[in-house]
Amino acid sequence: MKRAWTRRQAISLITGASATTLSGLIRPRKANARGAKVVVVGGGFGGSATARAIKYLAPGIEVFLIAADAAFVCCPGSNKVIGGFGRIEDQTVGYGAIAKAGVKVIAGRAETVDADARRVTLADGTVLPYDKLVLSPGIGFHWDEVEGVSAATAEEIPHSWQAGPQTTLLRRQLEAMPDGGTFALVAPVGPLRCPPAVGERVSLVAHYLKTTKPKSKIVVFDAKSKFALQDLFEEAWEELYPGMIEYRLAETDGIVRAIDPETRTVSTDFDDIPADVINFIPRQHAADITDSAGAMDETGWCPVDPATFASTRVPHVHVIGDAAFAPPLPKAAATAVSVAETCAQAIIRDLTQGAVPDTRWHAGCFSLAAPSHGFEASTDFYNKDGHVAVDEATMNRSPLGASGEDRAADAEKAELWLTGIMGKVWG
Ligand SMILES: Cc1cc2nc3c(=O)[nH]c(=O)nc-3n(C[C@H](O)[C@H](O)[C@H](O)COP(=O)(O)OP(=O)(O)OC[C@H]3O[C@@H](n4cnc5c(N)ncnc54)[C@H](O)[C@@H]3O)c2cc1C
Repeated sequence: MKRAWTRRQAISLITGASATTLSGLIRPRKANARGAKVVVVGGGFGGSATARAIKYLAPGIEVFLIAADAAFVCCPGSNKVIGGFGRIEDQTVGYGAIAKAGVKVIAGRAETVDADARRVTLADGTVLPYDKLVLSPGIGFHWDEVEGVSAATAEEIPHSWQAGPQTTLLRRQLEAMPDGGTFALVAPVGPLRCPPAVGERVSLVAHYLKTTKPKSKIVVFDAKSKFALQDLFEEAWEELYPGMIEYRLAETDGIVRAIDPETRTVSTDFDDIPADVINFIPRQHAADITDSAGAMDETGWCPVDPATFASTRVPHVHVIGDAAFAPPLPKAAATAVSVAETCAQAIIRDLTQGAVPDTRWHAGCFSLAAPSHGFEASTDFYNKDGHVAVDEATMNRSPLGASGEDRAADAEKAELWLTGIMGKVWG
C-alpha cells in the first residue's frame, strides 16, 4: 500500500515546489532590472506563471500579461466536467492575485508582433514595446485535414481541447444523447496537447454513460498506432467498462477522412459510422501569434534553446508551454509551469547580467479512468548539452494490476495536484 500524503506534502511534491514560496526551484533572491519591460502573451499556465515569477524575483521589471479573456478556464480537470462530476466554475481562475503582485494584466488579444522593432500590437490597437517577449499562447488547430469540419463546425462538433464553452457544449450534448446512443471521439496524430487526456476523456465519458445510459457505446478513431498510457487505460476499461469502448488505431481503420456535421456521420476509408455525439480533436500547431513573431517553423511549432526557452529563430523572444518544441518534454500544464521558472530566470539573467539559470523540469501527469481510479506517470527532465533529457531515476509510473486502494490514492493525488498548481499560478 502507498503511504498517505498530507495535503501540504502532496502539493509541494506534485508541483515540484515549496508550498510556502512561489517556487521551490527559484531562489528567492531579488534581482534589479529597473525600467526593463517584459511582455507576456497568454494568460494560461505558462504565461501566468512566468509573469508572476519575473515580477516576484525582479520587482523593478515592468511586466505586462496579455490575457485573452478576463478569466481563464483550465483544461486539467475539464474531463471531469464532461464526465458529469466536476464544475466549470472550479476550473476557472481570475487574474486578481497576479495583478496584486504588480503584473499589469491587460485583457485583450495580441494581434501582431514586430520582432525587429520589439513591439506587440493588440487587437484594439494598443502598442506595447518590450525588451523581452514571452509567448505562451497554447495551441491552434489544423482545420483543413478532415473533410466537412472547420473552425465554424466546432459549434456543433466540439473539440473541447481548449477549456470553456467547448467543454460545456460537449457536456450538454452528452446529456442530450439517448441511452443506446453512440459517442465518437476522433483523436489526432501528435505532437498534441496532453496525450493522456484522450484516454482520460474516453474513460470519464464511459463513466457517465455507464451510470446513466448504460446501453450506449463509445467508438474512438485514433490516427496513431498506439496511445498514451495504453496499457493502463485498457486494463481499467476492461475492469470498469467491459464491452463499451471500441478503440480503433491507424492499423484498424482509425483514420478519419470526413465528418458530416448534419447527419453526424464519421467516415473512414472503409466505413461510415453514425454517431449521436462527435468529439473531433484536430491535429495541432503552436497558436498563430507565434507565426507573426517569426518563432514558428515549418513544423508548426517553435524551436527553443532548452537552457533558456529562448526562440532559436527570433532574438529577445522566448516561447514556452505547448507552443514550444522541446521533445521529449510533454505538452502539459505541469511542464509549462516548470519551464516558466527556467524562462523567468533566463530573462532576469539577461536583463541583469546575473547567474546562469537552473534547467530542470518536472512533469507530473495524473489521469483518471473513473472518479476514484487514477494513474500517475511523472518524470523529471533536464538540459543536457542543449537537449532535453529524461532523468530516468525520477520516473514514477503507476504499475499494472495495482489495488483499488492504490488507484484511489492516485485519483486523490490528481485532485491535489490540480489544486496545488492552480493555487501556485493564480492563487
Ligand atoms: C482535456 C485536457 C486535460 C488536460 N489535463 C492535464 C493534466 O492533468 N495535467 C497537465 O499537466 N496538463 C494537462 N493538460 C494540458 C494543459 O492544459 C496544457 O498543456 C497547458 O494549458 C499549456 O499551457 P500554455 O500556457 O501553453 O497554454 P494555455 O494554458 O492554453 O494558455 C494559453 C492562453 O493564451 C491565450 N492566447 C492565445 N493566443 C493569444 C493571443 N494572440 N493574445 C492573447 N492571448 C492569447 C489562450 O486563449 C489561452 O488563454 C490537459 C489538456 C486537456 C485538453
